[in-house]
Amino acid sequence: MEKKQYERPHLIKLESGMPGKFGTRNDSPPATHIDGVMVKDLAAKYGSPLFVMSERTIRSTYRKAYKAFSTRYPKVQFAWSYKTNYLSAICNIFHQEGSWAEVVSGFEYDKVLANGVDPGKIIFNGPGKSAEDLKKAAENGSLIHIDHLDELYMLTDLAGDMKRKPLVAIRVNMDTGIYPMWDRFGFNYENGQAWDAINKIMLSGKLELAGLHTHIGTFIMSANAYGVAASKLADLALNIQQKFNHNIRYIDMGGGFASKNTLKGSYLPGSDTNPTFDDYAEAITTALVNSGFKPDNLPLLILETGRALVDEAGSIITTVIANKRLSTGRRATIVDAGVNLLFTSFWYQHPITPAQGFSQYREENTIYGPLCMNIDCLRESISLPLLNKGDQLVIHYTGAYNLTQWMQFITLRPNVVMIDMDSKTHIIREGETVTSITGLEKTPDFLVNVK
Ligand SMILES: *Cc1c(COP(=O)(O)O)cnc(C)c1O
Repeated sequence: MEKKQYERPHLIKLESGMPGKFGTRNDSPPATHIDGVMVKDLAAKYGSPLFVMSERTIRSTYRKAYKAFSTRYPKVQFAWSYKTNYLSAICNIFHQEGSWAEVVSGFEYDKVLANGVDPGKIIFNGPGKSAEDLKKAAENGSLIHIDHLDELYMLTDLAGDMKRKPLVAIRVNMDTGIYPMWDRFGFNYENGQAWDAINKIMLSGKLELAGLHTHIGTFIMSANAYGVAASKLADLALNIQQKFNHNIRYIDMGGGFASKNTLKGSYLPGSDTNPTFDDYAEAITTALVNSGFKPDNLPLLILETGRALVDEAGSIITTVIANKRLSTGRRATIVDAGVNLLFTSFWYQHPITPAQGFSQYREENTIYGPLCMNIDCLRESISLPLLNKGDQLVIHYTGAYNLTQWMQFITLRPNVVMIDMDSKTHIIREGETVTSITGLEKTPDFLVNVK
């Protein structure tokens, strides 16, 4: 019999309270509850993985944002960015708080109408509006934000047969010191495209120029960039006033504020370093009040903030399927939520907290999802307490974009639950069943039988 090969024992360093830049690490306690509801109970009742949205966090975040702007500027209006999270329960919390709606497709537009929002409070953005979309929005008195000249000509043409003049704005892109510049949307400020589009609208006489819009990017870490953008839009507005004696009604600064999440590769947590609503509000409102607008003629300030209003309100509860050692000796944990549910894990290091008590020992860990795909990695490296199969983790700050960009891939998408202000739980989107997927399929007769 061949002698078995000797393998030396493998010693692993367990860390406890590694010192960092600011002293010994202060571990966060386990996330046993979300808004007063036990994580274990949520998983037992609604399954794992599970999306959980907090009504309390949405309302308090919205109020913080609204206050930051309304204490600095007399006329402020938020418009909820549907593509950030368009579950109706979530949208309607924002509408109850006073938000208008901001949409970028015909599908989203119809969703807003179904939610009972006054069509005059819908902002229709995006480069892909069809003639049908434009006609419907214009006749409803919604605000149409024109993205390119072909759209401008199409709408001017359609306007001829309409009973009311379409209400429009143009989207303007510009150099705000943020690169790469988002110049694929709208008309450029610096090269004169924006001014050209404005002149075409004003001289056509067929469209009512109601506002000016920009959306400079997303997760913008510089509040100052918004000050630059607001100044440029104010400058355009004042030129319109001078040349055409026409006052626009609003300036729409778009979205793009950073949430409290931490971008990959950042040394410090986003909750400590990202600009606050007050920082953004200060930059924007200062630019507007210091511009040439007469005090009694200040335009309405519209904000289409998405991510920063809802990211912190979302969590995913996930369960440990297995632990394993990679060939390098590194510890890996497999959980039941994959990147198909957590799209934002490609950009963020979400805070991740065990849902049960743990000892002081920790180890560097890679977290994988359950998909049979090499890219299904939720986190390349995170120091976590030792976990067992069946333990649960809460992945925080997952409320933005995951519930609109998630993919149905090899598994079914899970329940989404909202915890209300009284800590009562409600399913706001049912978990998928096999028939919710296969019900849409059609198999030609000759392929029905495999025998
Ligand atoms: C996506 C989008 C928003 C919301 O952006 P956030 O980065 O989530 O704040 C607002 N306006 C427009 C035009 C958008 O496309």
